[in-house]
Amino acid sequence: MNNTSDAPEPETTVLQSALRGLACKCPRCGQGKLYAGFLTLAPSCERCGLDYAFIDSGDGPAIFIIMLAGAIVVGCALVVEVKYQPPYWLHAVLWLPLILATTLLPLRAMKSLLIALQFHHKAAPGRLVDRAK
Ligand SMILES: [Zn+2]
Repeated sequence: MNNTSDAPEPETTVLQSALRGLACKCPRCGQGKLYAGFLTLAPSCERCGLDYAFIDSGDGPAIFIIMLAGAIVVGCALVVEVKYQPPYWLHAVLWLPLILATTLLPLRAMKSLLIALQFHHKAAPGRLVDRAK
């Protein structure tokens, strides 16, 4: 994000940017698709032409998903174990699908949300300032 044409619309609020992210839409116009595959980004927005090269969500989406899914699955497993003491095979039958559901289903929206918030707040890697100039 090096020029002002990548900036969000002036009237865009954080909530609007977050909703665009959750909908997996372009962070600038909210119309174009962000993804070309499940987690593969399109090269640019088909509506407004925003180049998605600036996007670097890194491990952020995975970390949030791991924390949330871990709390949900471990919490449910603890409650079921303490209350019913089922056999281990039943734990596997119950929690493996829940693990898949709580990790894979929200991953796309979480990545898109973090991209939209990165765009909204103009987050970018730090750069050194050359004070000699
Ligand atoms: Zn767009």
